[in-house]
This record gives sequence, C-alpha cells and structure tokens, in this order.
Amino acid sequence: MLIVPEREIADLLTRAASFDAVERVFAAMAAGEAYNFPVIREAIGHEDALYGFKGGFDGKGMTLGLKAGGYWPHNLEKRGLINHQSTVFLFDPDTGKVAAMVGGNYLTALRTAAASSVSIKHLARKDAKVMGMIGAGHQATFQLRAALEQRDFDKVIGWNYHPEMLPNIAKVAAEAGVPFEAVELERMTEADVIISITSTFAPTVMADHISPGTHIACMGTDTKGKQEVEAALLARATVFTDEVAQSISIGEAQHAVAQGLIKESDVHQIGEVINATHAGRTSDDEITLFDGTGVGLQDLAVAASVVELAVAQGIAIEVDF
Ligand code: NAD
Repeated sequence: MLIVPEREIADLLTRAASFDAVERVFAAMAAGEAYNFPVIREAIGHEDALYGFKGGFDGKGMTLGLKAGGYWPHNLEKRGLINHQSTVFLFDPDTGKVAAMVGGNYLTALRTAAASSVSIKHLARKDAKVMGMIGAGHQATFQLRAALEQRDFDKVIGWNYHPEMLPNIAKVAAEAGVPFEAVELERMTEADVIISITSTFAPTVMADHISPGTHIACMGTDTKGKQEVEAALLARATVFTDEVAQSISIGEAQHAVAQGLIKESDVHQIGEVINATHAGRTSDDEITLFDGTGVGLQDLAVAASVVELAVAQGIAIEVDF
C-alpha cells in the first residue's frame, strides 16, 4: 500500500492536474462509466462532529474507493487543528486490496475549485471580463485562484456577508494581477461569471442580482437546508450539476424542485456538455448555473492523480500491508 501524507499534497498537486482529473471523471459519470455510492453523513454525538463517507467507482479511470472524514467544530480552538478532516482510501478494483491512503484536506479544496473551473470552461461566455465572488472564506480563495485561469478577466468584484473577510480574496486577485473591488450585492449584475461559496441557510443572491448572459457556479450548498441563491434564479437559468441526484436533494436545486419551479429533468450533468451530448450554453443572453454539490468520485480522481505524482517524484511511502 502507498501512503501520501497530507503534508506532501500542497507541493505535489497542481491546479492543472486536479482540473484534468475532475473534468475526466465528470465526463465518465455522464457516459455512465462511473458512479457515486450513496453518501453517509452522521452526527456521531461526540465533539459535535459530523462524520461520513463519500465513495464511488470509476470504471473508465479504474478508481475505486472512498473519502472518510467530516467536520470537527472545536478542533481549532481546542487542539490547533483545522476543523475539516478527511482521508482518501483507494482500492485495487481487480482484487479489492487497499492500494493507497492519501491526505484529503488540501485535496478537497483543489477538487472543489476544479469543479467550478470546469463549469466556467464549458459554460461561461468566451468574452467574460468581470469575475464576481460571493464568499471570502477558506474555499473562496481556492475557487478564485482557479477561476481566474479560465478566462481573460480584467476585474474581480466581491461581496461577503462578513465584509472583514474580503481581504482574503482581494489578496488572491492581487497575486493574479487583477484589480479587486468590494461591492454591494446589487452590483453583481456587472459580473459575467460568479462563484458563490458560502455556508448560508438563507439565500443572499436574488434572481435580479444576475444579468442575462452570466454564468454562476453555486458551490456552497452541499447539505439539506443550505441555500445561497433565490430559487427563482434556477427557473431563469439553464441548470447544470455534477450529479443530478445530489443536486435535487442536497444541492442548490433542492429548493427550486421542492417549490415546483423546476423539475429533475431540467437539471443536466456537466459531463454531458464535456462529452458534447448536451449543447451547454446556446446564446450570449442565457444564464447558466452550475450546482456544484461535491461528489466522492472527484476526490478519488484527484487522489489517484496525487498518488501518480508522488510515485513519479519518489515521495510515496510504501507499506507492506
Ligand atoms: P468558511 O467557514 O471558511 O467560510 C464561510 C463563508 O460563508 C464565508 O464567506 C462567510 O462569510 C459566509 N457566511 C457564513 N454565514 C453566512 C450567512 N449567514 N450568510 C451569508 N454568508 C455567510 O467555509 P469554507 O470552507 O469556505 O466553505 C464554504 C462552504 O462551502 C460551506 O458551506 C462548505 O460546506 C461548502 N463546501 C462545498 C464543497 C463542494 O464540493 N460543493 C466542498 C467544500 C466545502
């Protein structure tokens, strides 16, 4: 068995490698060659922790395994550890023998950023110039860094519920050499591409905050009850997702479907656009919305890529197991 410790991942894994892995696995999912297993998520009644498993099998990339982990809200204050903790286990699909154990924390941020980037590549207008950010927490920095590589943006505008956090994303824009402006939500109408990545349970982005022709990637809603955007926006948009079952149960589409504003059949897999079995954006006025719920296969694809890089660079630890 190979081990790639968490401390090695940031130096090993590039944005390009995680983008390629996620794009490939979304394509395989839409082609019916890869599927996710039902998600397990439990409040374990200890340390207020939420713990669970996300797994799947990709018969095209030959990746089998799971990500185990969750959220320990007191880690930082009590132990100086980050609150999100996860580990990926990969298995040999031919034998069932465990093949690798890979640190999953940094990997989660990169694979989540890769998902919105894949959506921008395939759905945003080619001439997009203004990038809008809603959210300025841990994930937002990774999201913005990856998004800025997808189009020739000349400005970033940002809004956050906690304005004191905005310097986190202003710093990313500055590093990429793109001017940043903090704005009121109403000015999101100026954005050609928007990423929302917050943990809110009440919608902050209203349908009239979004102009025709915009692509919006909603990345924060990954649990029942969370909601970042007004359900009416989904009725105005062409809606895409990583996985339809997750989108309508734990993703942003859960609310629009529950309110009868859209149907399950109105939600399309982004992989269909990658595979050219769905046209994707068909006009410059269309609003496209990507509901990124986060699937286990993303973690497995990126972890497999990490293992390959670690082996090539002689960093993987081999254990006789
Ligand atoms: P974080 O705690 O670092 O940041 C939270 C963000 O949400 C901040 O911008 C904060 O200002 C904002 N926020 C908090 N309460 C709010 C409210 N009431 N109204 C509006 N905004 C509010 O968290 P993070 O690690 O950046 O994660 C952000 C979200 O992304 C979480 O909901 C997390 O579960 C989700 N997430 C999704 C995926 C995926 O694959 N889709 C992956 C990882 C994380």
